Amino acid sequence: MKKIALHWQILIGIIGGILLGLLCIQFAGGKEFIIDWIKPFGTIFINLLKLIAIPLIIVSLIKGVSDLKDTTQLSGLGLRTFGMYILTTVIAVTIGLGLVNLIRPGSFISEETRQEMLLSFGGEVREKVDKAAEVQDTRGPLQPLIDIVPENIFDSMSVNSNMLQIIFFSLLVGIAMISLPFGQVKAFKKVLDAGNAIVLKIVDLMMLFAPYGVFALIAALIAEAPSFDVFKALGMYAFTVLLGLLIIVYGVYSIFIYCFGRMNPFRFFKAILPAQLLGFSTSSSAATLPVTMECAEENLHIRKDVLSFVLPIGATINMDGTCLYQGVAAVFIAQVMGHDLSTAEQLSIIVTATLASIGAAAVPGAGILMLVIVLESIGINPAGIALIFAVDRPLDMLRTATNISGDSMVALLMDRQIE
Ligand code: ASP
Repeated sequence: MKKIALHWQILIGIIGGILLGLLCIQFAGGKEFIIDWIKPFGTIFINLLKLIAIPLIIVSLIKGVSDLKDTTQLSGLGLRTFGMYILTTVIAVTIGLGLVNLIRPGSFISEETRQEMLLSFGGEVREKVDKAAEVQDTRGPLQPLIDIVPENIFDSMSVNSNMLQIIFFSLLVGIAMISLPFGQVKAFKKVLDAGNAIVLKIVDLMMLFAPYGVFALIAALIAEAPSFDVFKALGMYAFTVLLGLLIIVYGVYSIFIYCFGRMNPFRFFKAILPAQLLGFSTSSSAATLPVTMECAEENLHIRKDVLSFVLPIGATINMDGTCLYQGVAAVFIAQVMGHDLSTAEQLSIIVTATLASIGAAAVPGAGILMLVIVLESIGINPAGIALIFAVDRPLDMLRTATNISGDSMVALLMDRQIE
């Protein structure tokens, strides 16, 4: 296995998983076999990735910031990074809105399918959506700002697993370090360097398990997939999201990469392929972060201090794929519900989907929960999520790969701007 490049290993894992999944569902008891004996290895792999994500964010972000020259360089990098994140997110949702208005996937859904889907939507997911809607109703306008500042960093790391709070704290430590005389923080810097090397070594070790983990994840996904009829009914909607994602990644990003990153887009996409594939398999930008960082450093040769700052923050707040998907999903649900959206309502989708994608956690299925906010802003019952739920997982896989590509693209741009 050692000589095969990581992206091939992951790809072999994906294909093997698909084959095993398809094979097992042919037999009685095959689904149960996968759930009992294969899926746990996928869960172990995800747990491993999540396990290292928090130490990785803390160590690399503090190190990244403290390696910068001074606070002026930090604020310059910070402002440009946030600017690019917002710009690409708004471009993404605008493309999504353009496509969904053009293709009108809502008009392809029959009344019968609509009723069926609304009725079949129950259980745990229904509860989650209702809860999200309820929480949303009781939140003040500045609550997202309050949420960034933790009262106890250990709670953020354990109970809440709140990445934004962890980022906030790590930035504070990094800023304090560059503001102090070097002699005073020298010893701590040494510890950080060693910590960073240890974390990266752990990531390398975990990657030995990647093909098997991916294999198990994909096999379980196939075994638990909804019936083909659902895909047929929602095909136009899924196609619209997919088309939008392809345009943003291979169209818009390529232009940025070529013009501002001064790099051949083919080279760029080859370099980040392992991260894209892992994002696709895990549906989590946070879990993929270790590999995204490795690709940025080893394949794109992005400066360590730049990628350590740009990528952890990007994985948490920059979700172009999620935002585009939320725009398409909101309009699609409105179309199926027979609600014609005005221009003002569509503009409001751009704003709320941008905020909702920033607020979405980098974990599987976060985007669909945050869709509640977008739907409520245009006066649509959040239960409309029932209509798209069945195909959400494959779309989550695709939008996560997009989110990761966007983060890597901005990291490249920031690196090239600093030279
Ligand atoms: N799974 C996505 C991510 O981690 C978030 C989403 O659900 O859209 O990037």
